[in-house]
Amino acid sequence: MLGRATDSSEKRSQVAVETQLKELKLLINGEQVPAESGETFEIRNPATGETIGTAARAGTSDVDRAVEAARAAFDSGVWQRTPISKRTRILMKVANTMRSRADELARLETENTGKAIVNTRAEVMQAVEDFEFYAGATGKVMGQTVPLSGQFLHYTVREPVGVCAQIIPWNYPIMMTAWKLAPALAAGNTVVLKPASATPVTAMVVGEILQEAGVPPGVVNVVTGPGEEVGTHLVTHPGVDKVAFTGETETGRKLMAAASGTLKRLMLELGGKSPNVVFEDADIEAALMGSLFGIYYSAGQSCEARSRLFVHRNVYDEFVGQFVSRSAAFKVGDPMDPSTQIGSLISPQHREKVHGYVEAGKAEGAEVATGGKAPDDPSLQHGAYYEPTVLVNVNNRMRVAQEEIFGPVVTVIPFSEEKEVVKMANDVQYGLAATMWTCDVGRAHRVAGQIRSGVVTVNTPFTAFPGLSFGGYKQSGFGRELSMETLDQYTELKSVLVYTGAKPVRPLGV
Ligand code: NAD
Repeated sequence: MLGRATDSSEKRSQVAVETQLKELKLLINGEQVPAESGETFEIRNPATGETIGTAARAGTSDVDRAVEAARAAFDSGVWQRTPISKRTRILMKVANTMRSRADELARLETENTGKAIVNTRAEVMQAVEDFEFYAGATGKVMGQTVPLSGQFLHYTVREPVGVCAQIIPWNYPIMMTAWKLAPALAAGNTVVLKPASATPVTAMVVGEILQEAGVPPGVVNVVTGPGEEVGTHLVTHPGVDKVAFTGETETGRKLMAAASGTLKRLMLELGGKSPNVVFEDADIEAALMGSLFGIYYSAGQSCEARSRLFVHRNVYDEFVGQFVSRSAAFKVGDPMDPSTQIGSLISPQHREKVHGYVEAGKAEGAEVATGGKAPDDPSLQHGAYYEPTVLVNVNNRMRVAQEEIFGPVVTVIPFSEEKEVVKMANDVQYGLAATMWTCDVGRAHRVAGQIRSGVVTVNTPFTAFPGLSFGGYKQSGFGRELSMETLDQYTELKSVLVYTGAKPVRPLGV
């Protein structure tokens, strides 16, 4: 997911976290309010199992209030008609505040997700850069002048879609918040954002930062609550014009069906099972380091995790031997420790799911070369930790090679021919990202052209930079985020046709 090298000036010293119980409210029309029912739910730290606070449990009436606020803000034009330079300054102010609070945001993110602090620091900085990118894009939402025959002036304008419901997952909470909010706001929309119930903390803080930066009340609303109820109500709500969703492919399917009743504009950023191909001519050391990052970053809880490793037979023994021993040496542990490489998974239930896949792989004949269990370290028993796991003796038809595991588990499959590996790489329902390692320039471009996925990277595991279009082919969804093309999806295209002739037109000839 990540695509930025953290510059050393941005590496901040770790500050000890004093866990304070948080009481998150809903953000509706610029105010923090409880759910109408007064209900709340617990927020946990998956690395310790401790409760770190509560969040308001929104119901349908709260969603109605949030949509009404967003609708009123949109219809009033309060944001769309704010001068472009001012909108740019406000979004830059959001970025600057987030940058100045980066340590705190990273610690909050780690506390809420269990992810290693080295990961969340980088993710906060990418979220900052997303706001910077779209702050600069505010005045670049442009139409065209298109020549027509006859005495006509024809031009297009891009206008905001309206009220956008944005529903995000738990694996990159602050980054997904930025990926969603920044382009929607740059294009002049208003928003109701729904974070995943497990990870509402940083989305709420970013919501507050937006208010402080001068985003008018009602332009950004944040509601927390169960996906089935709150999410479904948003997706079917007649006051919502567009739904931008990131999450599982299965949820995306349900959501697409639910959204059809009101024909909402949809963007679906869904799951993945991304290939990582090591050709025999690769720089093996670079491929090793990149392939480890490609699967273990974020403990494998990445939509674009390169979870299917294909290695050419001529380098298989050397590469896989090294890959397994380096996987075994990864430091799994306290996510607040800056030397930790893999923190906790999101929950014990999710760890069970991941482990269930490893067991299913074994039942189908795969062998565990390393990992395949929770760490033995007694100090990690309260968290949802899982060891980096390499499955060998896998074939591409096994469930472990086809389904999204969403944990630190990689399958390894040897290959002999370029054609053979392209076929296997594409032989999956997903098409989000793909990485290859080769020193042959012709092969790099040839294979990039044959892989059916939204992002292909060559000799780098990084997949996401502000400016790079990110999104899926096939059942990884549709829509592109992070880039200028995203603005097209947060706008409607209007054609304006003007007759410029001196004589009146007589379309009926009379
Ligand atoms: P999820 O589908 O369970 O939940 C995502 C969001 O949808 C949550 O906010 C949830 O509350 C809400 N939701 C659940 N049911 C809903 C419904 N019926 N209607 C409306 N909303 C509903 O996904 P998750 O487990 O939180 O996230 C992991 C998934 O997200 C993985 O499959 C991963 O690949 C995917 N993901 C994709 C991208 C991408 O850019 N393609 C990025 C990050 C994560």
